[in-house]
Amino acid sequence: MPVYSHSRLSAYRQCPLKYKLRYIDRIKRDTEGIEAFLGSRVHETLQKCYDDVRRGKLNRPEELLDFYRDAWQRNWHDEIAIARPDMAAGHYQKLGEKMLLGYCRRFAPFDTDITVATEMMLNFALDDAGKYRMMGYIDRLVRAPDGAWEIHDYKTGAHLPAQAEADSDRQLALYQIGIRQKWPDIEKVRLIWHYLAFEKDIVSTRSDEDISRLAAETTALIDKIEKATDFPPADSNLCGWCEYPDLCPAHKHECLVESLPPDKFKNETGVSLVDRYAELKDQAASIEDEMDAVRAAIIDYAQREGVTVVRGSSRKAAIRRQQKLKFPGKSEEGREGLECTLMAAGKWPDVSQLDTAELAKAIERGEWDKKLADEVAKYSRLEETTTVFLSKPREDEARED
Ligand code: SF4
Repeated sequence: MPVYSHSRLSAYRQCPLKYKLRYIDRIKRDTEGIEAFLGSRVHETLQKCYDDVRRGKLNRPEELLDFYRDAWQRNWHDEIAIARPDMAAGHYQKLGEKMLLGYCRRFAPFDTDITVATEMMLNFALDDAGKYRMMGYIDRLVRAPDGAWEIHDYKTGAHLPAQAEADSDRQLALYQIGIRQKWPDIEKVRLIWHYLAFEKDIVSTRSDEDISRLAAETTALIDKIEKATDFPPADSNLCGWCEYPDLCPAHKHECLVESLPPDKFKNETGVSLVDRYAELKDQAASIEDEMDAVRAAIIDYAQREGVTVVRGSSRKAAIRRQQKLKFPGKSEEGREGLECTLMAAGKWPDVSQLDTAELAKAIERGEWDKKLADEVAKYSRLEETTTVFLSKPREDEARED
């Protein structure tokens, strides 16, 4: 079994296909997102900052900024991808400088705690037998003045999570397992995220029960990944940052046509088929609206003229008025009482029907006891259906040729 990492597990959770391409097929890509590049340069700068503190040197903010700018120039390469068309590399470089300055304002001269290690590699087991192994890097491990150990993590993204989200974050909690295995006498541990763009730190602590639950959930996820034979694509907003769109059935066609000149783009078979289908769907929707309006006008006309049949040239329209009993729908008021009455009278089987769509969903979601689900599944068969859903491309994918 391979050694897992938080990013490996997250890749599977985010998209099984991306996981397969990256970790099973080991397809390497030279492209690097600008956000990841910015994150690496900021991390390097803060690593230098605290490594110097450990050697007795306290850097001034300008010195750290010089280091950052130099690292940016030295590492820059042509394969860095900027997903947002309205942003340039310079915007990101400045953003990193702003984050570092904000951090310096709050923490310079950086010597109020003891840095045990920076970019510390951990390799640890999730179980006593050592079957499930994990590895990871702690940005900075700290002994705080009150004796607690702190796992610090720098975040350069544009999302500030709520406290509840941080309290359920797995990465640093997994590292807590790692440092406890390295130093079993550690008692108090704090997990600290520095959200640099917001100049905000989020602190979380985990009980022993939380940690045991996390280890159990993580080993279960590893088992699931190890057993997986199907790795479907999971399309999401994060696809813009994926390095494999050209190998992904959900994005491959987009990749094929995106560089075509306008006339070739419009005439490409797939593009023209989808354009025509969308046009027809729009027409069908407007015809539906028009039919509703004409139907209402015929009823009005018949009422006004006191007739029940209206003659057209090749057809006639009969207007029937009926009164029907109407009972409350599934979530309407009175439904529960109605169902109880019917069940108490033993009439429920006469008027109820099995909802097979709901049944299929319950089995697929794995909500039921396995024995019952297996018993019920014996009556099912697998049927393949193919549907075509139309949706608008995301803003960054739209093309107005
Ligand atoms: S583009 Fe999206 S759906 Fe396709 S492999 Fe990447 S993350 Fe998965």
